[in-house]
Amino acid sequence: MVRQFIVGGNWKMNGSRGTVSTLVKGLNEASLDKNVEVVVAPPALYINSVVETLKVGQVAGQNIYSESKGAFTGEISAEMLKDVGAQWVLLGHSERRHVFGEDSKSIAKKVKHALNTGLKVMYCVGETLDEREANQTTAVVFEQLQAVADVIQDWSQVVIAYEPVWAIGTGKVATPEQAQEVHHAIRQWLADKVNAQTAEATRIMYGGSVNAGNCKEIGKKADVDGFLVGGASLKPEFIDIINAQL
Ligand code: PEP
Repeated sequence: MVRQFIVGGNWKMNGSRGTVSTLVKGLNEASLDKNVEVVVAPPALYINSVVETLKVGQVAGQNIYSESKGAFTGEISAEMLKDVGAQWVLLGHSERRHVFGEDSKSIAKKVKHALNTGLKVMYCVGETLDEREANQTTAVVFEQLQAVADVIQDWSQVVIAYEPVWAIGTGKVATPEQAQEVHHAIRQWLADKVNAQTAEATRIMYGGSVNAGNCKEIGKKADVDGFLVGGASLKPEFIDIINAQL
C-alpha cells in the first residue's frame, strides 16, 4: 500500500490579509512535488480568501466546535468550514489541549462531528516532556487515540499527526529514530485496536520544529507519511519541506 505523502501548514494565529496573500502567491508560484498532498490551515477569518486563491492545495480549519449551530459564542462549526470550501480540520492540537484545556473526550466529539459533516481530520496526538521522561509516551498517545476509537469506526478520512509537545515551537525536533519509534507504535496500535487495513492505510505525519534542514532525514523513515509544520510554514522554506522527498 502506497500512502501519499502529506504536508500541512498550521499558520496558527498569525498573519494579515497582506501576508496571507503573499503566502498563497508563494505556494502558487513554487515548483512543488506533484506527489505530495498540501494542506494549509489559516486563521478562520482568512479561510475563505485562501480557498478562493490557493491553486496547489487544500484548506483546513484550525478548530471547530462539536455542534452544528446555536448559542456558542465565538465558535465555528464544521458546517461553516464546509460552506466556505475548507476540506479539512485540525483537531487535538497541543495548543488546544494545553492552552485551552481541551480533553481527549471533547476532542473526540469534534472528530466525530467533523467526519459526519464530511470534513477530513488531522488528529494531533503527543506527549509532554515530563510524560516522555516518565516513559509515558505511548500510554499518553494511545489514550488520545482510544478516545477517538471509542466514537468512530471508519478512519479513512483521518490523518494522525504525532506532535510531541516538547518539540512544538521549541526548535527541539525529535530525532528521526524517536519519530519512527512512536509512528510505528501508533501503526501497531491501529492494527491491534482497529484493524490491519486501517493500520496499513492511515497516514501518520510528524510535527514539531520541522524545517528545511531536518525534514529529509525524518521523511525517510518508514512510518513517517508527512509533516505538520507550524513556524516554518510561514516561511519560504515550507516549499523545501513539501519537496523533502525529491
Ligand atoms: C504545529 O503547530 O503543529 C507545529 C508543529 O509547530 P512548529 O512546527 O512550529 O513546531
